[in-house]
Amino acid sequence: AAKQRGPGNSVAYDPDIERRAGERFALMSRLGQDLQRDALFLVFQPQLCLSTGHIVGAEALLRWRTDTGLIPPGEFIPIAEKSAYIHAIGDQVVRQACTALKALNAAGLHEITLSVNVSGRQFDTPGLAERVAARCTEAGVDLHRLGLEITETAAMTNFGQVAQALRSYRAAGGLVAIDDFGTGLSSLEYLRDLPADHLKIDLSFVRHLEQDERSRQIARMIIKLGRSLGVGLIAEGVETRGQADWLRDNGCQTGQGWLFSRPLALPDFIDFCRQQSPR
Ligand code: C2E
Ligand code: MG
Ligand code: MG
Ligand code: MG
Repeated sequence: AAKQRGPGNSVAYDPDIERRAGERFALMSRLGQDLQRDALFLVFQPQLCLSTGHIVGAEALLRWRTDTGLIPPGEFIPIAEKSAYIHAIGDQVVRQACTALKALNAAGLHEITLSVNVSGRQFDTPGLAERVAARCTEAGVDLHRLGLEITETAAMTNFGQVAQALRSYRAAGGLVAIDDFGTGLSSLEYLRDLPADHLKIDLSFVRHLEQDERSRQIARMIIKLGRSLGVGLIAEGVETRGQADWLRDNGCQTGQGWLFSRPLALPDFIDFCRQQSPR
């Protein structure tokens, strides 16, 4: 385990660090095996228009099923990012999202969009936009139904490559959202050069909207910024009616969160769409 820390990183012996490194290594090798076994799957969290209550789309969130239960993405994505597995995972996510779009089409739900989360590492090799577009073509689904979500922090680590890939993705007709907006360590300067269709207001701002005037001020500012840049706003982590009403009244069009629905398995998501859509 000491070797994993790499040269020049020697630290005083700490059994806790040793144990955690061991756990990470074990998780990583299990992940490698499970990648071949379709143990990774997507769940879909509805996104609703805050003024009409109609469903407009969903965010696809990754889950890993193991013998010991579900492992959340916050635990295995950072580990996968330290290996080449993140590329295989990213490809599976896009493929499964395309399959889901086909199922939505078959159910007559042609307007619903899906967005997938992409890691900054997926931009290491150029051509991400083209790879995603190729998957959509293979599956026979329109690129304008599939969005990519990237956090500002991830975008910053490889800015030139990310901005270029996202620009060509949008030029080909795909949608782009900046995730967890306002929480990254970036300046506003990058927003000028990072093309996007949506800003996602981070749940840390949404959470305290009702109690905290400063959260409201920040949320107002993000909404104003988004509107003046001509991008749509999606609030994540909406848990109460009060939050949803405040967001709607202050110009945020779309909401996502437990108030409306937990992330759902595909068949349940399709049922949810049938209940919520206008027709
Ligand atoms: P994210 O993209 O910001 O996703 C939002 C997270 O908030 C999700 O956690 C979602 O389940 C959770 N959430 C939704 N509604 C509520 C709510 O009302 N209250 C609260 N407290 N939480 C809510 P999840 O599914 O555990 O995903 C965590 C993060 O893992 C995601 O954050 C995303 O950055 C990453 N992730 C998920 N799927 C993928 C993937 O396919 N690829 C990559 N690279 N990252 C992924
Ligand atoms: Mg996201
Ligand atoms: Mg987010
Ligand atoms: Mg997040």
